[in-house]
Amino acid sequence: MSSRRQARGIVPRKSLGQNFLTDDATARRIVEAAEIERDDLAFEIGPGTGALTVHLVERAGWVVAIELDQALIPVLQDALGEARNITVVHGDALEVDFAGLVREAERAFGRPFKAIRFVANLPYYITSAAIRRILECGLPIATIVLTVQTEVAERVTAQPPNMSLLAVSVQFYGRPELLFKIPPSRFYPQPEVESAVLRIRPHAQPPDIGAQAFFRVVKAGFSQPRKQLRNTLAAGLGLNKAQVEAILMQSGIEPGRRAETINVEEWKELAKIFMSIKKSVA
Ligand code: SAM
Repeated sequence: MSSRRQARGIVPRKSLGQNFLTDDATARRIVEAAEIERDDLAFEIGPGTGALTVHLVERAGWVVAIELDQALIPVLQDALGEARNITVVHGDALEVDFAGLVREAERAFGRPFKAIRFVANLPYYITSAAIRRILECGLPIATIVLTVQTEVAERVTAQPPNMSLLAVSVQFYGRPELLFKIPPSRFYPQPEVESAVLRIRPHAQPPDIGAQAFFRVVKAGFSQPRKQLRNTLAAGLGLNKAQVEAILMQSGIEPGRRAETINVEEWKELAKIFMSIKKSVA
């Protein structure tokens, strides 16, 4: 792949997070982790010169690859050779309409897909926004496999007492696991930090509480993560301390605990009770 890039005089653009994977065994391992089958649609964000894409077209029924850098598209097309089961979209993965692209791909494929999967060696500058966009897009996604900075993968998969707003946001929608790490030497140019492959399996059932209500309470809790919930929730939700302590006790949460020690099920319970109290006083 790098020879095709070099032949076309492509210089990696740091501003677009371009660190190309140079190790084919690692590329295969990443694609395998997505568990793609013949009737599946695989979305790829940032195909670059095609390190993952060439394996995706071999496994998936159809691939939709979204690349922001127009200059890379001919290099990608070279790498893909005769493959016809792919739509290459020149665009920004943070703006394209995923649902519309699924409908177009389904028309091209000729029948409904069995599963939708996402695979990406994410440009680091869009990591959180891309994860949020995929999880919130409303499509029934079976697996999401992302290469991210190891530090991000560790934060996403953290458990109490090390939770963060990012961990809660991902774990609200699915179950994340850190699969394996990738040293900088497997990319060109080498990134400054180690990478890790993260797999998220979205929950089969949508959460039993609305995202808006849930995140209102979670964000209030994390506004000052080192302070006790009895204080942060009172300030963030516009309640007095006695009201907050009552909500916490009813949720089975000791009011002196900090946001970092609360798991997603506890946040859900807390948000449900907060909503019911808000309704009853409204
Ligand atoms: N998948 C390739 C690989 O593994 O070698 C390239 C990975 S590189 C880390 C990230 C890729 O995402 C680059 O090709 C870059 O141009 C592209 N990119 C950056 N921002 C993007 C965006 N907002 N939407 C789509 N692609 C983007």
